[in-house]
Amino acid sequence: MKTIKIAHLYPKLLNIYGDIGNIITLKKRCEWRNLNVEINEINIGDPIKEHDIYFIGGGQDKQQIEVSKELLKHKDFLLEQRDKLAVFLGICGGYQLFGNYYQPKNEEKILGIELIDAYTVAGEKRFIGNVTVKTDFVEPNSLVGFENHSGLTFLEGETIPLGTVAVGYGNNGKDFSEGARYKNVFGTYLHGSFLPKNPHFADYLIELALGTKPDDINSEIEFKTHYSLINKKY
Ligand code: GLN
Repeated sequence: MKTIKIAHLYPKLLNIYGDIGNIITLKKRCEWRNLNVEINEINIGDPIKEHDIYFIGGGQDKQQIEVSKELLKHKDFLLEQRDKLAVFLGICGGYQLFGNYYQPKNEEKILGIELIDAYTVAGEKRFIGNVTVKTDFVEPNSLVGFENHSGLTFLEGETIPLGTVAVGYGNNGKDFSEGARYKNVFGTYLHGSFLPKNPHFADYLIELALGTKPDDINSEIEFKTHYSLINKKY
């Protein structure tokens, strides 16, 4: 039986607002289905081997600078993985590093690894609060989470948003877009954590990694949480 290999990229630097919950959710939802799952933490200086899913969380600019330098060393390998349709999920600061660059205010540009065609610039205001997103590629067609960022992300080329913001600010507070996707790469500003509150999205990632739909499991409590958060304002 296939083992789903998950790389948790730089958890010592990028891991805030419960981002680790995303890894726990993926692990549990695999285990509950008796799927073999292996989680490998990748920290600064570690080599990155081939995985089915690559996850990276959020953090502050200072940590992003350090992680950016390290990720750039692995850029070619990760682009190759993207083109082989490996699954990537980046949250907030990690999402910004999946793009072309993040330009903070009065500081040097932080380079991303260009897994998606997107760029981020520092905004004047910090976007904090609950977010509800309407989407069209997972069922139920909603995503919920909590955002806390000042970077404004703009998508270009073939990179499209995860969905449209119904509550909250999303990518930039201007065009109602939230998150990004290209091939099997996904980025989002939704923390707090994202996958525990969106079990259908966790299962979608598992499906992409497996290449087949995973068995149904009872997710009553998780979906109760999901639905209770829809349209909840901060
Ligand atoms: N430093 C980035 C911003 O504020 C990312 C923040 C985060 O990951 N929460 O835009």
